[in-house]
Amino acid sequence: MLIDSHAHLDSPRYDDDREQMLRRAAEAGVGAVLAIGIGEGPAEMHLALDICREFNGKPGMPRLYASAGIYPHNAAEADDAAQAKLDNLLSQPEVIACGEIGLDYYHEGAAHPIQREGLICQLKIAAARRRPILIHCRPKDGATDAWDHLFEVLEEHWMSTGLGGVMHCFGGGWEQARRSLDLGFLISFAGNLTYPKAQSLREVAAQVPIDGVLVETDAPWLAPNSLRGKRNEPAFVTQTAQTLAEIHNLSAAEIAEATTKNFARLFKLPLGMGN
Ligand SMILES: [Zn+2]
Repeated sequence: MLIDSHAHLDSPRYDDDREQMLRRAAEAGVGAVLAIGIGEGPAEMHLALDICREFNGKPGMPRLYASAGIYPHNAAEADDAAQAKLDNLLSQPEVIACGEIGLDYYHEGAAHPIQREGLICQLKIAAARRRPILIHCRPKDGATDAWDHLFEVLEEHWMSTGLGGVMHCFGGGWEQARRSLDLGFLISFAGNLTYPKAQSLREVAAQVPIDGVLVETDAPWLAPNSLRGKRNEPAFVTQTAQTLAEIHNLSAAEIAEATTKNFARLFKLPLGMGN
C-alpha cells in the first residue's frame, strides 16, 4: 500500500469526479491520502475534513486523513477567529496534522514578517494539540533565505515539542534536507522528482535515508513527467514512488512499505491505517 502524503482533495477541479478520482487512487494501490486543509484561506480550512467524513467508510476508497492550516500567503487572515477555528479542527481525530504552513518568498504575497508571525502562532496551536506540522518552504530561485528563516523559527518554537513534521514537496539541497532530518522531519517528494531537469533533486533524494522519506502528489498541481501540465490526482503518486525506488535501487513495493511505515510512525497511526 502506498500513501499520498499531500493532496488538495478540496480543489474545485475535482468537483465533477471526486469520488471516481478517489476510486482510481485505490485501484492504483493508494491506501491512504492526507487531504490538505488550507482551501483558499481560513474560511475554507474545514473542507478537507468534510471530504474525509464524506468518503471514509465507503468501500473501494483510500482511507482519508485531513490537515488544517493557514498558508503563508494567507497569514494576514490568521485573526482570533481563524486561530480558534484551526484549534477546533486540530482537535478532531481525522485531522492529524497542521499545515501546510511555512514561508514562501517565491511568490508575491504576504510580507515576510507577517508570514513568520502566522507561522509561529500556528506552531503554538499545533503544539498544544500535539499535531505534527506540514511545512511549505520556498525561497526565490537560487536563494536559501526562506530556509534559513524557517530553521531559525523551528529551532526556537518547534524543536522542543518533539512532534516533528513533513517538509512537503521538498525542493531544497542536501544541507536543508540534513537539517530537516536532524529536526525529526520527514522529506516528502512530489512529482517534480520525475522531471528530466530535476537531476540535482534526485541526487539529494539519493542521500536521504529511506526511513526519512515520504511521497506525495500535491494534486491537483505538479503532475509527474508523463502527465505534465495535466490535472494531477493521488493515483499518480505511484510514478513518484517508482522514481524514488529507482534512485534507491529498491523495488516499488519496498518504497511503498518504507513510506507507509514512516507516515505511521510520524502520525502515531497503526500500520494498517489504510484501506
Ligand atoms: Zn500543497
